Amino acid sequence: MSLVVVHVPAQRSEERIDEILPEELGLVVFLLPAKVRVTVERVIVNKWLDRYGNCHWVILIYARDYALLIDNSHPLPAPHIISPFALTGSLMKHAKPGTPTTSSKKARADFFSTHPSRADHFTESVIREMTRLAMKYNAINLAQGFPDFPCPVELKEAACDAVRADWNQYAITWGAVSLREALARRVKEYNGMSFGPETEITVTCGSTEAMMASMLALIQPGDEVIVPEPFYENYGPDAQISGAVPRYVSLGDDFSIDEETWKSAFTNKSRAIILNTPNNPTGKVFSKKELAFIADLCIDHDVIAITDEIYEHILYDGKKHVSIGSLDGMQDRTITIGSFSKTYSITGWRVGYALAAEPLTARIRKIHDFLTVGAPAPLQEACVAALMLPESYYRGLVSEYDRKRRILFSGLRKAGFACELPEGAYYIFTDVSGFGMTDTEFARFLVEKIGVAAVPGSSFYDAGGETKLRFTFSKKDGTLHDACERLERLDEPVRNS
Ligand code: GLN
Repeated sequence: MSLVVVHVPAQRSEERIDEILPEELGLVVFLLPAKVRVTVERVIVNKWLDRYGNCHWVILIYARDYALLIDNSHPLPAPHIISPFALTGSLMKHAKPGTPTTSSKKARADFFSTHPSRADHFTESVIREMTRLAMKYNAINLAQGFPDFPCPVELKEAACDAVRADWNQYAITWGAVSLREALARRVKEYNGMSFGPETEITVTCGSTEAMMASMLALIQPGDEVIVPEPFYENYGPDAQISGAVPRYVSLGDDFSIDEETWKSAFTNKSRAIILNTPNNPTGKVFSKKELAFIADLCIDHDVIAITDEIYEHILYDGKKHVSIGSLDGMQDRTITIGSFSKTYSITGWRVGYALAAEPLTARIRKIHDFLTVGAPAPLQEACVAALMLPESYYRGLVSEYDRKRRILFSGLRKAGFACELPEGAYYIFTDVSGFGMTDTEFARFLVEKIGVAAVPGSSFYDAGGETKLRFTFSKKDGTLHDACERLERLDEPVRNS
């Protein structure tokens, strides 16, 4: 009897599993991340076993750190590990006997078997995929967090002026001097932290690059990185790419911190913790007390805090933003990441930044330089104008988002979603267990049949989240009203399906 161990790397692995069925099935062991559980079980139970009755046993292993298990350095004997793309030749068989072989499939399988890559260990972004599906089905996109309304006119003018004034060539790799100086002033005022523009500020291509460059600058393969869960989707792949071993620490149902759980997540292998406040997807705003508790753990265990504060200006009900880097003892062990994307409604400009003490910044800048050379030069100039906007701009932003938050919240509640008003950021993280579908099934159903795109909750968890769905309210009031109207009709198709 043959033993085949199949490593299933991707969440949307249905076609791939179909593609790689071995001729002679004996004992088949699927090694897969817990995340793909629902898809894989459905495929196997409904289709696969049925079709291939000669498979005696199927063992599913849901591995939390499965990427480590498939790493070459793992003690499992290498020949037993067969990635879907590594099954070639006599083992390769098509899903339906008689289906003609396509040479491109074979060529792809051959290519991947001889060219394994770190990119095989994570999926494409589900958030961005939902945007593509929204376009395909002409659905209202409440999936990806970006505004469908214009940015402030001052910024548009500043960007046009910068192009006309020929700011068209590379800026200094770590950022235009005018922008770094303006940032230093603003961060001192709003976040209560001092950073020297010459040595402690790096302008990046959005906060996405700032996070990736920070992790690449800090992490040695095998270092543990603590990631509170649920977390913004990017942090998982960021950990994979940088070689970090993620240690997920769950927030309570009310997103509170269980101190004992957090303490036990910090070990002598911990190198960094990734924080995100206000949080995407939950809207949680960490209080000063909670951050002080985390800061003490960082100091005791010599851990660096990498803190994504992209929603720092989007706070409701009088909540205050606190930067962990401003707390005692944290200035030198914190990388504070920010961006112009959300505060000024310019997600496509790709201008963000990383703030850190000189030794950390020196490393971040090297990685940043070789990744991107720099963020768009004219748009950096225009971002200086953003930092000159009066305080009333920020108050207006909050009151606009507060209204939008309430529109979406009441629409979701009416349509039967269980949810709370978020404390910050621009998402509502709902519980959909009442609808009788998994998150991915429900998200697909919503985008195809109801015309509203949302993000499946499992995108924000290493394991779990199948009862959650995230909606953004970063849209015009009219867009939100239309979406709510569609969602209210939800009852019918769900009942009839
Ligand atoms: N942060 C936004 C979200 O969570 C957009 C992410 C992105 O696609 N860069 O939807």
